[in-house]
Amino acid sequence: MEKKVLSFSTRLMHGTSRPCPTTGSLTPPLYQTSTFVFDHMQQGADRFAGEEEGYIYTRLGNPTVSDLEAKMADLEGAEAAIAFGSGMAAVSGVLFHLLKSGDHVICSDGIYGCTYGLLRLLEERFGVEITYVDMTRPEKVEEAIRPRTRVVYLETPVNPTMKLIDLKAVSGIARRAGASVVVDNTFATPYLQRPLECGADYVVHSATKYLGGHGDLIAGVALGKKEEMDAIRISTLKDIGGVLSPFDAWLLMRGIRTLAVRMDRHVENAKKVARWLEDHPQVKEVLYPGLESHPQFEVARRQMDAPGGVISFRVAGGLEGARAFLDSVRLCHLTVSLGEVSTLVQHPASMTHSVIPEEIRERMGITGDLVRISIGLEDPNDILSDLEEALRISRGTVAFNENP
Ligand SMILES: *Cc1c(COP(=O)(O)O)cnc(C)c1O
Repeated sequence: MEKKVLSFSTRLMHGTSRPCPTTGSLTPPLYQTSTFVFDHMQQGADRFAGEEEGYIYTRLGNPTVSDLEAKMADLEGAEAAIAFGSGMAAVSGVLFHLLKSGDHVICSDGIYGCTYGLLRLLEERFGVEITYVDMTRPEKVEEAIRPRTRVVYLETPVNPTMKLIDLKAVSGIARRAGASVVVDNTFATPYLQRPLECGADYVVHSATKYLGGHGDLIAGVALGKKEEMDAIRISTLKDIGGVLSPFDAWLLMRGIRTLAVRMDRHVENAKKVARWLEDHPQVKEVLYPGLESHPQFEVARRQMDAPGGVISFRVAGGLEGARAFLDSVRLCHLTVSLGEVSTLVQHPASMTHSVIPEEIRERMGITGDLVRISIGLEDPNDILSDLEEALRISRGTVAFNENP
């Protein structure tokens, strides 16, 4: 019989792990252990020498973590995956693997705040050179290429400005220059966008967000070619040590099983909220790839299956308008992070992206009036009522400040 390729939603819970052969437990067991017992000395020696398959010590590998890695590789269409203890551990694991001093990185102009911090550390302490370019214009990447350009690093959608980068165009330019393309796919997840299919070499995730989905863990994943992932596993994973705990891997797999249904609802709610915000007099601009007003609406249609669940918008009245809005939400939680069941709002300029110097931040479009909202799974009418009330209070505050 011909082997049928299962669809993405089915592969979320089928295909990689099997029911436990000894107990029949359908849910994969949790191997919450630090170490693994050898039958005899030679077996231990053979495992260390790589001559016998098998587990040694959880920092080097664990069956529960391996299950998760197999699942993620299947979903992203990668040869191999490696789980890390956080999204930042995954980002740094890949970058430390690829870079040495004197190398050059081209990075998207707009990036997760801690990734910016890591790149600055690489620049200041390890002599790596970084150029930030507006990758919404792929020709800018071409112009920035140098003989030692080793990595092209990007996020799309860009956090928090929700700009999109054409993955095929940028990957083509990088390939011709002999540089590796690393894509942070946290915002889209493999359900909505698969960068490796568009020519990227590595994908990294903060699995803390949509993949886990419930806001109860911190985790990261890196994906790519098997040879590269093997090298990362025995160097920047094992020796720097940012490993994922088996329990968090197990929780993460539980989250992943419902990724498709959650994402569908996140997207449906986000579309409603984005359209509503666009018509609101207190909102100056809505940044969401699902709106026809988005400058790269066509890129969204080409490389994403749906526009995702995060919206950014500019509140009238500048920083104080944003402050009054954020201080007035009741249902939506004022908190960083995204991709959870509940709706979360935050202020990138003073929170997630505050490490970026103001001048660069402004150039990236992360201004004082910008608010980011991660739309949850609530009834959308309840989200809208909360936003309506908070915007009403913001309008009153701004009017009062103008005419005291
Ligand atoms: C949260 C986030 C990270 C960092 O992930 P952690 O799991 O918090 O370490 C990296 N990139 C993006 C786009 C994120 O949103």
